[in-house]
Amino acid sequence: MSKQRVCVVGAGIIGLSSAVRIQENVPGVDITIIADKFSPNTCSDGSGGFWEPFLLPEESLAQSNKWCKDTWDYLMSLVKSPTAAALGVHTVSGYNFTGVNIPKDPPWKDQVLGYRRLSSKEIKLHPDNRDGVFYTTMMINVKKYLPWLMRQFRIKNGKVINRKINSLEEVMADYDLVVNCTGIGAYDLGDSSVYPVRGQVIRVKAPWVKHFYFDKDPSETGNKLYIFPGKDFVVLGGTSQIGNWSTYVTASDRKRILDGCSRLIPSLQEAEVLEEWTGLRPSRPTIRLEKEDVCFNGRTVTIIHNYGHAGSGITLFWGCAKVATDFAMESYRLNQQSKL
Ligand SMILES: Cc1cc2nc3c(=O)[nH]c(=O)nc-3n(C[C@H](O)[C@H](O)[C@H](O)COP(=O)(O)OP(=O)(O)OC[C@H]3O[C@@H](n4cnc5c(N)ncnc54)[C@H](O)[C@@H]3O)c2cc1C
Repeated sequence: MSKQRVCVVGAGIIGLSSAVRIQENVPGVDITIIADKFSPNTCSDGSGGFWEPFLLPEESLAQSNKWCKDTWDYLMSLVKSPTAAALGVHTVSGYNFTGVNIPKDPPWKDQVLGYRRLSSKEIKLHPDNRDGVFYTTMMINVKKYLPWLMRQFRIKNGKVINRKINSLEEVMADYDLVVNCTGIGAYDLGDSSVYPVRGQVIRVKAPWVKHFYFDKDPSETGNKLYIFPGKDFVVLGGTSQIGNWSTYVTASDRKRILDGCSRLIPSLQEAEVLEEWTGLRPSRPTIRLEKEDVCFNGRTVTIIHNYGHAGSGITLFWGCAKVATDFAMESYRLNQQSKL
């Protein structure tokens, strides 16, 4: 029996997790990843690696609850596994200083652990005595996780091609099923509703920082500052520029992030800078996670779209990969039936 030829376009966290889950769950697939960038050069690699729905448009937030939960459960299983140290995945607790007008509880309030209002003593930890909430979530070092996923994929005979495609039609001739996980690249492939939300982060060596922090940016740019203490480095961030396609690190963003984060933890001024990075969060009005059958050269090619995860790809990836796998399974079953 001939195998179903599957092509996953994209090797960020969305593409790799979709490829691995399809490979593990759909019988008889011959699967290839095609991408023009691989770890450590994808947007996923540069991200904060922090579990929390962030910068998701309202509609996407409502749609994505289950995907967030599935990803949480999966990350927690990694936290509790012997590979946790190698992947830099761990729980982390901290402060989200929201100010006096604490917004209504987010839909993920019961997903994180121990979500509660700050005590009066904790409020005094903030230079402006700002109110907020405290909870426990998780972080992962994506630069370690993606190569680990890729190894799993290759061990099971997954193929990898380094290539930029200019349209999905380019790969339709050679495959029965195409999974589109191109992130911000989906814009160039024809989805004009995709837009970037530019983010700049600084990775520093500061092993003394043990809690995460979110805070309002005192510079009034409307950005949120954050400090994420990972196993291997601390991520300082706080840039969300809608529609900005620049991938250059800027001195003004660097200053704003360092000044803002050092206001919360003054010793960060002395921390060694390990890396500065800018990435484009792949945003659109809603995450595109759907199946489409396209007639191509007289045969039907199934396309599964899985992109547009904005500032939450690390929070959603495993749940979205499950949905993509369910679509692939459906396509496999229909294929089998048509052969009867
Ligand atoms: C500063 C910053 C911090 C972030 N922090 C967090 C965080 O803490 N938590 C969180 O949940 N999310 C975070 N995010 C968001 C997260 O990084 C993204 O949602 C996620 O990386 C999207 O993953 P992806 O696989 O879709 O895209 P990418 O990682 O960009 O991968 C896209 C893949 O598609 C390939 N591709 C695209 N077009 C083509 C083409 N034409 N031909 C061939 N290949 C193509 C690329 O080469 C690449 O391999 C952050 C983002 C930024 C910018």
